[in-house]
Amino acid sequence: MSMIPYAFSYRRPKSLAEAEAFFAASPESRFLAGGQTLIPTMKMRLAMPPELIDISGLADLKFIRAEAGQIVIGAGVKHADVATAPEVRKAIPALAELVGMIGDPAVRHMGTLGGSIANNDPAADYPGALVGLGATVKTTRAEYAADEFFTGMFSTALADGEIVTSVSFPVPKMAAYAKFPNPASRYAMAGVFVAMFAEGVRVAVTGAGSCVFRVPAMEKALAVSFAPAAVAGISVSPEDLNSDIHASAEYRAHLVGVMAGRAVATALSR
Ligand SMILES: Cc1cc2nc3c(=O)[nH]c(=O)nc-3n(C[C@H](O)[C@H](O)[C@H](O)COP(=O)(O)OP(=O)(O)OC[C@H]3O[C@@H](n4cnc5c(N)ncnc54)[C@H](O)[C@@H]3O)c2cc1C
Repeated sequence: MSMIPYAFSYRRPKSLAEAEAFFAASPESRFLAGGQTLIPTMKMRLAMPPELIDISGLADLKFIRAEAGQIVIGAGVKHADVATAPEVRKAIPALAELVGMIGDPAVRHMGTLGGSIANNDPAADYPGALVGLGATVKTTRAEYAADEFFTGMFSTALADGEIVTSVSFPVPKMAAYAKFPNPASRYAMAGVFVAMFAEGVRVAVTGAGSCVFRVPAMEKALAVSFAPAAVAGISVSPEDLNSDIHASAEYRAHLVGVMAGRAVATALSR
């Protein structure tokens, strides 16, 4: 196979404003964070941006803060740092556990929160936590409720040149994430995030469909009785789920039910 010739320029902005200015000057360019998706995509020539704007050095994107009732995480924080952060483990252990299940150690030491949610891979874990916890995504231009941020397969509410700066995760009373990983990539074949708040219960499913989605029937049942038995009889329809070389839609639908029960059991066991 002969290589398609390709060259790109590389810029390292010193601030978010400079990153935006670089983008405005080269609208086909791409922001580079952990490079875990973008670089392999470029190697395969599925993306050939003329310029990379490397935002991985921006200190403004690297913080974890415990605030009243929420944990705020900068978009540039790497998965390994979220998984081990004492603030996260204390307030939302389910989030630390979810992030600790992403890929392998190499991926977790490079991949970032912002890169993961901007990419919105249907099998990514983070979208489950954002929608399951009802998080808010902050960008250089706006704020989005997680329910509005993830709009479809590999698509989000982000406009061209808009940079995710942080995500605020509300602290639940109880929560857990159960994932059935693809044994090779560790991506979710089905992952279910369950969270209980004073206002109600949220159930978010990732990996099974084209984009993260909620299961209102499970949310209602768990609000009445937060126990694995409450979701045992509730199934999701395979109609809109993914069917590929890894698993059929029917198998994924079955996994959603099993993972939901496991997540509730884990949440109760803490
Ligand atoms: C082998 C392997 C296994 C993996 N397994 C899993 C898994 O099990 N679960 C899982 O969830 N993920 C998995 N991933 C994905 C990984 O966790 C990364 O989160 C993901 O690759 C993208 O993050 P990144 O920081 O590397 O972004 P990059 O690859 O640098 O960027 C990805 C995209 O996001 C854009 N972008 C980056 N940061 C921002 C920002 N702040 N604002 C706006 N746009 C931005 C970029 O322009 C680019 O389009 C895996 C990846 C690999 C290579």
